Amino acid sequence: MFDFHTHFIPEDVINWIDDNKTAINATRIEKNPKKEKFLSINEKWAFELKQDFINADLYMKKQQEAAISHSIISPVPQLFLYDFDSDITKEIATVYNNALVSWQRENPEQLSGLATVSLNHPEQAAKDLRDGMNKGLKGAIIGPGVHGKTLSDPFFTPFWEEAQHLKAIIFIHPLLSEDPRLHHHMMPNLVGVPWETTIAATDILLSGMLDTYDQVKILLAHGGGFFPYQIGRLNQGYHQWPHVAENLRKEPSAYVSDFWYDTVLMHPETHRYLNNTAGSDKLVSGSDFPFDLCSWPPLQTSETAAHSLLYTEGT
Ligand SMILES: [Zn+2]
Repeated sequence: MFDFHTHFIPEDVINWIDDNKTAINATRIEKNPKKEKFLSINEKWAFELKQDFINADLYMKKQQEAAISHSIISPVPQLFLYDFDSDITKEIATVYNNALVSWQRENPEQLSGLATVSLNHPEQAAKDLRDGMNKGLKGAIIGPGVHGKTLSDPFFTPFWEEAQHLKAIIFIHPLLSEDPRLHHHMMPNLVGVPWETTIAATDILLSGMLDTYDQVKILLAHGGGFFPYQIGRLNQGYHQWPHVAENLRKEPSAYVSDFWYDTVLMHPETHRYLNNTAGSDKLVSGSDFPFDLCSWPPLQTSETAAHSLLYTEGT
């Protein structure tokens, strides 16, 4: 079984954080004596720095116990660092990506890596992606935008053009929602996170990017958020309002299976719905391990989807 949605923080990255803790306002906070310390960057989205995130042997052992034969490892979104100067973003991307390349090279059967890129500087992001993939990474994980710009903004064109050229996997992973109405009950994570993916997927679809960048393999986190569930509404808008349809060659529901989706849904009925809506050849096993809200072990899916996502014909 594959795991397409899993995170790890290599030792070089931890060392980089410690060396740059003032520049990125990194703090370790004890929240509960029974838990590991929480890592906070710039006072945002603190998370428990569990051993599973940083101990490579333990991580591999857990993968084995869950019968995962191949993990596609992503950096953690808290370390994308899009809010900082792009020199800093580029520096952590280089350290992170090189560490994942080394780990992947040591375990080629078990591991593949996705790069983090300087999405706050799309020309640099294109270079980060190219460098990472030249060294064997399979693509990149990115957030749903930067500084209020969604991913269809022309600002990001250099990055998408490179992703198209490289036939990259681009894993769109939400950042914590900063909607002020969601400040309690863990709502930024519970509904804010899938909402961020919903916005990203809808924006990409309606902008016509799925036709323009048809070689990019876009993987949506957490089963695509709420996007697949609202496809009827998008279809009706497409027929109702000409400006919704202006960039599209077909109705929105016909684009649903242009994305890939992970299975981090934690409910058999929603999983079944996604399977019926997007097709089993677009659903890949994912866990979000080792975050608290992970689907562990991942749901088994058709390996056809995994192979079509991970391997490009002719390579
Ligand atoms: Zn995740």
